[in-house]
Amino acid sequence: MKVLVTGCAGRVGSFVARQLLASGHQVRGFDLRSAGVEDAAFEQVVGAFDDRETASRACEGVDAVLHLGAFMSWLPADRDKLFRANVEGTRIVLEAAADAKVGRFVFASSGEVYPENKPEFQPITEDHPTKPRSAYGMTKLIGEGLVKFQGRVSPIETVILRFSHTQNASELLDPDSFFSGPRFFLRPKVKQQEAFGNRAAADLLRAADPGQPALVLTRNENGRPFRMHITDTRDMATGVLIALTHPKAAGGVFNLGATDPVDFADVLPVMAEKTGLPLVTVDLPGAGVWYHTSNQRMRETLGFEPEWPIMRMLDEAVEAWKRRQV
Ligand code: NAD
Repeated sequence: MKVLVTGCAGRVGSFVARQLLASGHQVRGFDLRSAGVEDAAFEQVVGAFDDRETASRACEGVDAVLHLGAFMSWLPADRDKLFRANVEGTRIVLEAAADAKVGRFVFASSGEVYPENKPEFQPITEDHPTKPRSAYGMTKLIGEGLVKFQGRVSPIETVILRFSHTQNASELLDPDSFFSGPRFFLRPKVKQQEAFGNRAAADLLRAADPGQPALVLTRNENGRPFRMHITDTRDMATGVLIALTHPKAAGGVFNLGATDPVDFADVLPVMAEKTGLPLVTVDLPGAGVWYHTSNQRMRETLGFEPEWPIMRMLDEAVEAWKRRQV
């Protein structure tokens, strides 16, 4: 099979591309950045998804498209770039794929389409109403609409995967990493909340600073610890590869992620013990993050079985953290 992997320089795309190559497939990558893959069966188109000529070149002659690339930002200043990359980009890649008579198009959507941070019921299934509350989530929902439209008006098979939050295990204890840094480390979280303009949260977090780098257990205003899914990139790649070929995936919408959510009150003490960093607890204004998303449809219909629960990821995260200390 010849497969186009968009976002091939990213977290999930780069791992999926390597998995496909290891299984003997031909892979074409499409990303703004070079994926740096050295393999005779790999070629890359460098450019933006919303550039029609580049998207056509990327889709020419491939059997399937895994559209895993997207721009992720929650900053108001990034809004135009977000819609260009995720809405116009998805429309143009889809049209190029249909013109090139690609067999299947798999789209990486997000749990932010529900949105997971403000669910109407739990566990969140694919039947939960979609009412995004972030511009990013909105771009993903419009993306889903574009994918469904293309599936109706052309013979292309489409699969929508609503991705869980996803991390490489090595990112979990990296204070400089984009997601895990401000999620688990106090000072990066202060900076993030300042950037979002959440002054009350930033002040509460700053007041808890013990005078040295520290981990932070975030809870809501009533003291309920945050709870969310954190899925290993390797499990996401497994799900994406199932969606690429499984006959029952065609036309479907599936939540893709770890089976159990991560309770921050369980993992932060383990992180503190393994790293020796102090742990502070901060109750932030508002309802906080507290969700559980069901992957039952993906498991029962397509046989998906995640293999990297958080504690297994943490073992690797601790090793990576130790390597960074020397
Ligand atoms: P990533 O940020 O690591 O990789 C995305 C890649 O897309 C990057 O290499 C980037 O250069 C490329 N890209 C961005 N805009 C582009 C454009 N306009 N043209 C060409 N390339 C462009 O993301 P990831 O973590 O691998 O996520 C993969 C997919 O899953 C994305 O669609 C993302 O929105 C979705 N998703 C991710 C998470 C998560 O927690 N990581 C959660 C839900 C959904």
